[in-house]
Order: sequence, then C-alpha cells, then structure tokens
Amino acid sequence: MNKIAVVPGSFDPITMGHLDIVKRASSIFDEVKVVVMNNSSKNPLFDVDERMALIAEVTRTIPNVTVDSFGGLLIDYAVEVNANAIIRGLRAVSDFEYEMQITSMNRFLNENIETLFMVSNNQYSFLSSSIVKEVAKYQGKISGLVPEAVEKALIGKFK
Ligand code: ADP
Repeated sequence: MNKIAVVPGSFDPITMGHLDIVKRASSIFDEVKVVVMNNSSKNPLFDVDERMALIAEVTRTIPNVTVDSFGGLLIDYAVEVNANAIIRGLRAVSDFEYEMQITSMNRFLNENIETLFMVSNNQYSFLSSSIVKEVAKYQGKISGLVPEAVEKALIGKFK
C-alpha cells in the first residue's frame, strides 16, 4: 500500500525551507500532498490559488508531490486522503511549543495518524515566509531564500 504524507502549512509564500522539507519527505514517502490550509486567522499576502500555483510550479520536477488546499481541520483532511503521516518542519526552539500543542490536539482527535518532525536544514533555520515578505516589501535581497518563481511573485506584489 502506498505510504502517503501530508505537508500542511500556510505557504504564504513557499520558501526554500518549506521546499527542502517537501523534497526530503518525497524521498521517504510514496506520495506527498502539500496542502495549503485555508482556515487560519492570518491575513495572507497571496490568495490560496496563488499559493497553490507557486507550490505546483516549484515542485513540478518531483513526480510524487501534489498540491491541494483545505478549509477545515487538518486531521479531517488527512483522513480524507488516507494519509499515514503529517510532516511538520522544526526550525528553532521557538517552533517547539506550538508544534507540540498542535500535535497533541491532532493525536487527541485521531490517534491513528502520526505527526513526524523534520529538523530544518541549518541554512534555513531562521527562514520564514513572514520575514521574507518583510524584506521583499522594502525591496531587500531575497534570492536564495525562495525559489525564483516566488521571488518574481513577491517583487510583483510589492511593485
Ligand atoms: P503554519 O501557518 O502552519 O505554521 P507555515 O507555512 O509557516 O505554516 O509552515 C508550514 C510548515 O513548514 C511548518 O511545519 C513549519 O514549521 C515548516 N517550516 C516553515 N519554515 C521552515 C523552514 N525554514 N525550514 C523548515 N521548515 C519550515
């Protein structure tokens, strides 16, 4: 049976840190579903379709990765797509408490779906969508931190 992993997030927009996690997950699982979660209280810069299109573009060379969006509880999505695991990236210690809280709630809701953590690559440990947006807003250098298509999209947004 195919082993399926879900990689959820806001991806507003996808960064090299996210992409690294997706690539690594794709080498372990048969199928990886990157899912843009559309229920957060955050005020996004890119709408869901734009975020999905950017993810699709930057993962197009990885054959077992697909992109999706979902507006409900992540655990319900994971059940719907028969996922075996939810993958989350862990950066600095600051991610830890939040991730533990979410994981513990997801386990309470459904104990059959495991959450696995992948430790961020050192070079991306302090990289987040928010900090990239902040720098892009003032025309700062973001190359190398996001894929080229994302860099273009960010420049377009802040023109
Ligand atoms: P969320 O709103 O769910 O935190 P994000 O898009 O910020 O959505 O992050 C999605 C996932 O990617 C989370 O598991 C987060 O920890 C992980 N992530 C974000 N940035 C990085 C990075 N630079 N390196 C590794 N993982 C990351």
